[in-house]
Amino acid sequence: MSTTDDMTCPDCHARVGDLAAHEKWHTRLVADVAKAVNQALERR
Ligand SMILES: [Zn+2]
Repeated sequence: MSTTDDMTCPDCHARVGDLAAHEKWHTRLVADVAKAVNQALERR
């Protein structure tokens, strides 16, 4: 068995070297989508 510094994201299964930074990116992505949905709802 070999070990690497890379970790796998539990959410999207991408291999990431910096899981903390990757999770931050996920949080931002989800927030952006929620904002876009809210704006679309308020538009009508
Ligand atoms: Zn991910």
